[in-house]
Amino acid sequence: MDYNEFLNNKITSLEDEGRYRVFANLVRHAGNFPIATYRDDSGEKEVTVWCSNDYLGMGQHKSVIFAMNECLQHVGAGSGGTRNISGTSNVHVLLERELADLHGKEAALLFTSGYISNEATIGTLGALMPDCIIFSDSHNHASIIQGIRLSRCDKKIFRHNDVNHLEQLLAVSPTNVPKLVIFESVYSMDGDIAPIEKICDLADRYGAMTFLDEVHAVGLYGPKGGGIADRDGITDRLSIIEGTLGKAIGVMGGYIAANSTLVDVVRSYAPGFIFTTSLAPVLASGALASVRYLKSSSQLRRQHQERVESLKKRLSAANFPLISSNSHIVPIVVGDARLCKQVSDRLLDQHCIYIQPINYPTVPRGTERLRLAPSPWHTETMIDELVDALDEEWTRLDLKRAA
Ligand SMILES: *Cc1c(COP(=O)(O)O)cnc(C)c1O
Repeated sequence: MDYNEFLNNKITSLEDEGRYRVFANLVRHAGNFPIATYRDDSGEKEVTVWCSNDYLGMGQHKSVIFAMNECLQHVGAGSGGTRNISGTSNVHVLLERELADLHGKEAALLFTSGYISNEATIGTLGALMPDCIIFSDSHNHASIIQGIRLSRCDKKIFRHNDVNHLEQLLAVSPTNVPKLVIFESVYSMDGDIAPIEKICDLADRYGAMTFLDEVHAVGLYGPKGGGIADRDGITDRLSIIEGTLGKAIGVMGGYIAANSTLVDVVRSYAPGFIFTTSLAPVLASGALASVRYLKSSSQLRRQHQERVESLKKRLSAANFPLISSNSHIVPIVVGDARLCKQVSDRLLDQHCIYIQPINYPTVPRGTERLRLAPSPWHTETMIDELVDALDEEWTRLDLKRAA
């Protein structure tokens, strides 16, 4: 085999489809969210970022930066080992307690990312329980799908957010085998929200455990920022809640929260937890400060929702084809990979607005989109500039408007 020719062809086919990924080189400005310096071959300029998952700008919050500076000075850079072999720092222990409390659970366990927390937890639990069947929402994240593969369990995919379909699948499964229902609260590409309580009702009726990915809700919803289950007062109905420290918390890392036996099992059996260097204490201390701040005050959550409403209203008034959602995620459908990249390039080149195009396989073909993530720090002026720029480019490229 001519390996290089083969590999080159793999790249060319992505380019031909217009979905070859080009990373925007950004330097964010701490204290000036959502502004960043964008660099390419032609030079550098300041841009307004409209697609960050640092939904509240906590990655630049004073309390977070202060905690991380302190930790860096006193503890140093890395953890020095796996959790089992000298790599457990006091701040890991404190953060796990704080996260358990955030979700009303007995215990929590840290991972180096949300991706790993999904893959390792689902992979390990599924493999441990004999004949376990996993019921998975069709829109679940790649890390969940990898975890299910790793578990080698029999899997049943239910149609997205469709409790009737889930019930059909549960009803025809053997009664005496372990079952695990896996779903997300806020789905990150459409911004829709799962019927958590109904899914928990079904899980109870059919004797299934529940695993809820709250990655896009942690910090943003609920009186303490525990997510949608916290907002709805139903955290106790879920067996496992999973989250990230890299999105609204603004730092890096992932975790699960559950009862102490389950957490102990994952801690003791999951290769993705055991055989890797633990999260740098600096990161854990930043995440701890962020979680504590977001528990103590709902101000940013309120401002966030207010910005979201304002943006949605402006975009609908201008007839952009929004995917309507009850969350903070505002997707505008372009429906073609190349056009999606083109409009994103024009926004960046002509208007200093950065919105990464979202193409297949992240979303289905034909639903390529711009996914906007307004934050409390996006001003009315920024919204004006965005709507004007989109309007101009939508007309120039003759893109579809809402009916
Ligand atoms: C981003 C994401 C993850 C992974 O979290 P990271 O901390 O970024 O690895 C897991 N689940 C969903 C739904 C996500 O969008």
